[in-house]
Amino acid sequence: MAIVDLRSDTITRPTPAMRRAMAEAEVGDDVFGEDPTVNRLEALAAERLGKAAALLVASGTMANLVSLMVHCGRGDEVILGDQAHSFLYEQGGSAALGGIHPRTVANQSDGTLRLEDIEFAVRPDNVHFPRTRLIALENTHNRCYGAPLSLTYMEAVAALARRHGIALHVDGARIFNAAAALGVPAARLAKDADSVSFCLSKGLGAPVGSMVCGSREFVAEARRVRKVLGGGMRQAGVIAAAGIVALNEMVDRLVEDHANARRLAEGLAAVDGLTVDCRRVVTNIVYLDINRDRLPPAELLERLQAEGILLLAVGPKRLRAVTTHHVSAADIDRALEAFRKALATI
Ligand SMILES: *Cc1c(COP(=O)(O)O)cnc(C)c1O
Repeated sequence: MAIVDLRSDTITRPTPAMRRAMAEAEVGDDVFGEDPTVNRLEALAAERLGKAAALLVASGTMANLVSLMVHCGRGDEVILGDQAHSFLYEQGGSAALGGIHPRTVANQSDGTLRLEDIEFAVRPDNVHFPRTRLIALENTHNRCYGAPLSLTYMEAVAALARRHGIALHVDGARIFNAAAALGVPAARLAKDADSVSFCLSKGLGAPVGSMVCGSREFVAEARRVRKVLGGGMRQAGVIAAAGIVALNEMVDRLVEDHANARRLAEGLAAVDGLTVDCRRVVTNIVYLDINRDRLPPAELLERLQAEGILLLAVGPKRLRAVTTHHVSAADIDRALEAFRKALATI
């Protein structure tokens, strides 16, 4: 039975074009700056994000950690959302390894932080306080229904940051999904940010890697931090080759994932026993709540799995589905049928 894997966009496997590019990649020692394929990927990523330079790192977690450690010294403070990936799912690495103090502000359901909340969190100059050095946003916002943050909002936060002399980092793990959903080039969404990270290994389908983009000075520092974290890779062109294919061939098709997520959300909303806020599904992430007390998520997951449909439980009554290039409209229909069947007999 063919599996429809909706657990995450991290499960994507490299395309045949990526595997060919990886097999044939020209490589060198990237710590010496001599891997031509890594250099090409970094130039391409910088261009796509409208920045002067970019750096290949091992993961999105490393991308955020490196960025935060460049912007903040020990004892400095970063303002970020209480639902942010960097706050919830990165082991507190910026505190553990960078000595950076996190100041959380409530994420609104659309993934934004209220401007007045950010303003209030910025520390005045006072011997009692850490120094606020950075605001970090997440676009799209994973925990907030994959919501894209609008250009207007990004500009407003950037203006606030500038007014206070604070840097702005964007965790853009899925920034190309945001760009696709908003119909705006990723470079425009990133234009006011001092640094932007994005994942090659999620919806873009590459097997490994994330990029950190910013000014030349920022990326030079990021390269140093990457090295001390053990992230200086040698013949990394083997990885970078897939990243180049990802940027050239996998960006324009993200709209298909969004259409499939929408199809799934609308179908699920019509299933008795489930609640889905369809209006909020505009990228590749769907959250659904089970409103049958006698059906714990674990049991529903088991019933779906028996039909070859995989999802992730993310709360006591909440499941998450993410669409990728492995999932077709017909797969969505199969998933919907499995849901109907699973809930019909409860
Ligand atoms: C996945 C993700 C990351 C981390 O990426 P890894 O490659 O899994 O370390 C960071 N931020 C967001 C918003 C993500 O979704």
